[in-house]
Amino acid sequence: MLYRRPRGVNDILPDEVGRWQQAEATFRELCRLYRYEEIRTPMFEETDLFVRAVGEDTDIVGKEMYTFEDRSGRSLTLRAEGTAPVIRAYLENSLQGQDRERLGKLYYIAPVFRYDRPQAGRYRQHHQCGAEAINSAEPEVDAEIIQLSLHFFHKLGIKDVTLLLNSVGCPVCRPAYIEALKSYAAPHLAHLCSDCQRRYETNPLRLLDCKNEQCQQIMENAPILRDMLCPDCAEHFAGVQQTLNILGIPYTLNPTIVRGLDYYTKTAFEFVAPGLGAKDSIGGGGRYDELIEQCGGPPTPAVGVGIGLERVLIAQEAANAT
Ligand SMILES: [Zn+2]
Ligand SMILES: [Zn+2]
Repeated sequence: MLYRRPRGVNDILPDEVGRWQQAEATFRELCRLYRYEEIRTPMFEETDLFVRAVGEDTDIVGKEMYTFEDRSGRSLTLRAEGTAPVIRAYLENSLQGQDRERLGKLYYIAPVFRYDRPQAGRYRQHHQCGAEAINSAEPEVDAEIIQLSLHFFHKLGIKDVTLLLNSVGCPVCRPAYIEALKSYAAPHLAHLCSDCQRRYETNPLRLLDCKNEQCQQIMENAPILRDMLCPDCAEHFAGVQQTLNILGIPYTLNPTIVRGLDYYTKTAFEFVAPGLGAKDSIGGGGRYDELIEQCGGPPTPAVGVGIGLERVLIAQEAANAT
């Protein structure tokens, strides 16, 4: 009998692989230019790393991870997202070194595994290139990560990219916002989708980025986190916008960009390009100032981006066709 590949995964055939090599080479070249160094982490990690970093009440941890027990009964998980393994390796190998001021700039190109409903550009094994800038709280570094990403898209001929920008606040200002959001949503609860009814309890921020049309309509007039930021977050967000303005990078403020992971603080952003569904981004990221401490390290601010290579190649094809 002939075997077939498992559902939701893809073969990259010889006549397509040239485009992959070109995209990967372009990303490497840009990372060299921006002085990011490559890091390669294992394909799997202890399950607890992803649970702790990404958050228990997220889609990823709740239903999308490829988790298995090895022969000694350890719970392991195939790389479920790009950032947590890099942070784990950064801490474990003391890449910070003796220099407390040192900015760690790392990049990776790696497969990511999610038990997701297969659809265009979404595979159960997909490929991500990403960059992390560790140990700076400066808004200029957020802007640099965004600039690097856009530089990458433009070099591949994807010119028509929209940058959606938001701030998701921090542990100081977010709790009050969550309360405001929940009191806004409470009277509408019966009309929200079943996912949102669950999120209302477990992860209310995600009410804002539900793909269900009725949920979107209901949440259209929800309070906006950007208006409730603490002085520190507000100042940082203004700094990011100011730097983008200086760099001539246009952006659209969008309060629904909250990302699916718990670890984001302050800046959150996504890149949207024609050729994919309207809400399907080709990449995104943000700041995660709490994550490194959560992973057992010293308090260390950081910001990063993850870019989906499959989606970038679809967007590139669409850009070349026009
Ligand atoms: Zn704040
Ligand atoms: Zn919903």
